[in-house]
Amino acid sequence: MSINLTFDREHIWHPYTSMIDPLPVYPVVAAEGCELILENGQRLVDGTASWWSAVHGYRHPVLDQALTDQLGQMAHVMFGGITHPQAVTLCQQLLAMTPASLTKVFLADSGSIAVEVAIKMALQYWQGMGNTDKTELISLRKGYHGDTFAAMAVCDPIDSMHSMFSKLLPQHHFIPAPDSPYHSEFRPESLQPLRQLLLHRHTQIAALILEPIVQGYGGMRFYHPDYLAGCRALCDEFEVLLIADEIATGFGRTGSLFACEKAKIAADILCLGKALTGGYLTMAATLCTDQVALGVSQSEAGGLMHGPTFMANPLACAVANASIGLIRAGHWQQQVAAIEAQLRAELAPCQASPLVKEVRVLGAIGVLEMHQSVDVAKLQQHFVEDGVWIRPFNRLIYLMPPFLISPEQISRLCWSMRRAVLK
Ligand SMILES: *Cc1c(COP(=O)(O)O)cnc(C)c1O
Repeated sequence: MSINLTFDREHIWHPYTSMIDPLPVYPVVAAEGCELILENGQRLVDGTASWWSAVHGYRHPVLDQALTDQLGQMAHVMFGGITHPQAVTLCQQLLAMTPASLTKVFLADSGSIAVEVAIKMALQYWQGMGNTDKTELISLRKGYHGDTFAAMAVCDPIDSMHSMFSKLLPQHHFIPAPDSPYHSEFRPESLQPLRQLLLHRHTQIAALILEPIVQGYGGMRFYHPDYLAGCRALCDEFEVLLIADEIATGFGRTGSLFACEKAKIAADILCLGKALTGGYLTMAATLCTDQVALGVSQSEAGGLMHGPTFMANPLACAVANASIGLIRAGHWQQQVAAIEAQLRAELAPCQASPLVKEVRVLGAIGVLEMHQSVDVAKLQQHFVEDGVWIRPFNRLIYLMPPFLISPEQISRLCWSMRRAVLK
């Protein structure tokens, strides 16, 4: 059966594109290992891990088996008044791998919802503590936290895709994007804007939300661990909660299991997603401390007012458990280190291109920041012709491949990136 691309074009929304004049789509009929297989049989080396998620590649036998086994038990059951073994195991695993101060888990159905829940927790916490003034949030310029309304309200207010809604969104505080890059010396002045804002406003501030170390869709920027450590210290000093959104960075992507580890800090509320299920099913998690849970439980509502229909979906929990099992086996550490070294070596020549502003690499993330916005459709076609799947946006062409990608496959990705910018 062939894929009806005309129907697709006329009737199906794709992410971030027009329904009238959409960007082209490529028909994928299967995927295995680190390759996507097009309808015409062509194989593309995957440079995206399906937006950070498929860290073990596609059709991994352990993950496939976990889902098949769980199907024999149940695909889904409501989570109100019910619990099940996969959910309990998953929450045990998550608490075992994150800082000891995080003790409570909310299983959400997508990353944006995990952020909504984190924000709700922070607001309900202060209400429960009898501090009803603390209703505002601080976020970083160039931040990205999802597409739902509360999440949009903490995305970069100008650069983000969401600026057109700004009049409808709650108004929060934005501090400049961290200007101390990961690979250079830390500039303590970069914490001044946060300190100043907290000095003037901390009695109204419930939480600071940030993506630790890597600002993803807001610009693929890598900032210094001391900046993150400084944010933690300032939150403590001014009694503000710290929400770490590790939806993109969690589970090894930056070379640390979680990016917060690079600054040796623990957040009060932690959001996980994307790679949580190894890219198989949609699921995310919001973890918090005893203290936050206590405050939330003392609030007027008496509990956390959130409960998605597919909360703790057993299939998603089962495949998350299997994926975390693979992560805990630890091979990702050598894999990510090797990817990092190879990306650094093979993307470096791109710096010679007049089109390229900066080449940067951290963990299994390789980024070309261009001077101008790229022509997505044209570049995408170039990549497909080269046998690779790379999805650029705005001024960024970037790689975040599955961890078990081979050196030959990485070379193919980098070769095609070099060809794209070094004509
Ligand atoms: C992708 C992402 C989200 C949103 O997750 P969805 O599952 O797409 O809703 C939130 N925060 C960060 C940092 C992300 O990268």
